[in-house]
Amino acid sequence: MILGHRPPAVVEAIRAQLERGWTFGAPTEGEVRLASLVSDRMPAIDMLRLVNSGTEATMSAVRLARAATGRRKLIKFAGGYHGHADSLLVDAGSGVATLGVPGTPGITPAAAEDTVVARFNALGDVESAMERWPKQVAAVIVEPVAGNMGVVLPTDGFLAGLRDVTRDSGSLLIFDEVITGFRIARGGAQELYGVTPDLTCLGKVLGGGLPIGAYGGRRDIMEQVAPAGPVYQAGTLSGNPLAVAAGLATLEALDHRVYHQLEATGGRVASALALAAAVAGVPLTVNRVGSMLTAFFTAGVVTDYDTAKRADTVQFAAWFRRLLPQGVLFPPSQFEAAFLSTAHDDDALAFLESALQESFSGVLADRR
Ligand SMILES: *Cc1c(COP(=O)(O)O)cnc(C)c1O
Repeated sequence: MILGHRPPAVVEAIRAQLERGWTFGAPTEGEVRLASLVSDRMPAIDMLRLVNSGTEATMSAVRLARAATGRRKLIKFAGGYHGHADSLLVDAGSGVATLGVPGTPGITPAAAEDTVVARFNALGDVESAMERWPKQVAAVIVEPVAGNMGVVLPTDGFLAGLRDVTRDSGSLLIFDEVITGFRIARGGAQELYGVTPDLTCLGKVLGGGLPIGAYGGRRDIMEQVAPAGPVYQAGTLSGNPLAVAAGLATLEALDHRVYHQLEATGGRVASALALAAAVAGVPLTVNRVGSMLTAFFTAGVVTDYDTAKRADTVQFAAWFRRLLPQGVLFPPSQFEAAFLSTAHDDDALAFLESALQESFSGVLADRR
């Protein structure tokens, strides 16, 4: 909730739409306005399709990539999360690019066999996979800043490298910006890092807290989606007017000033975490971009899933439980991102800073 809970402008937009109706079985003006707002902020999106969740966005984008390239295989990264479509829920355990195995009961080997897992920030893994399966890889799907193994930033040149490798191999590059889109910059990670994907998946901030998702990108690819093209995808409630109204009101509030505020807020919280941990002698690595961050309970750098897993989750849990009675709810997993909002004002941040100072003392003892 990038603007916090119940921001007046969003409440008003939802209320106004409620009075006008909420499902028409036809596209609405708001949907078109939201689409053009998105493509203004993300110039790589010539056309887009609204859906109801991030999961729908990624599974539709993958289907489209396979159709557009006539190829089957998909490369994803260990620790990357792209919603719960079968082919994307592949076990993240094996480090080097290997054939995937189902990561949860209920997924058949057939649904997972075309998913190849590479290590985040290891461009060589992707290059080897392209060599091993020449002209078979439809797409590389990546969270440009990983947010689902805790926050893990792309190392210098990783995203640009993915752009080059995919282009050279005739594969598509899909940025899953369901978290990062409108969160870390007005134009998402693609603006912040200056790398242009073929397709982009969106969700979360886009709906202002109501159910929404979107996928979009190059016109020549998007024109293959039905009814303009042969790739079927539809949804009864897609582009739902209530979610669109909430999304429009949210995006309209997200001007440059907001991102400056969020950057300052994120920086302040990251410093407070690092300082409080240092004073208590607790090894901590804080990864942050803008208003998303993770405090990993490890002394080492965290650059991929393997290094993320070195964090001491027992210590994390002890720390999390120390914060709760103080009135601070951090994400309840070491491998989730914390998000800050414009509602975290000076008072809230001062409150948080003092809670953080308390929280680390005793964490080492709790662990034993
Ligand atoms: C949350 C998330 C999804 C799935 O979105 P849902 O709306 O929960 O289906 C996909 N990709 C990323 C990167 C996410 O964080």
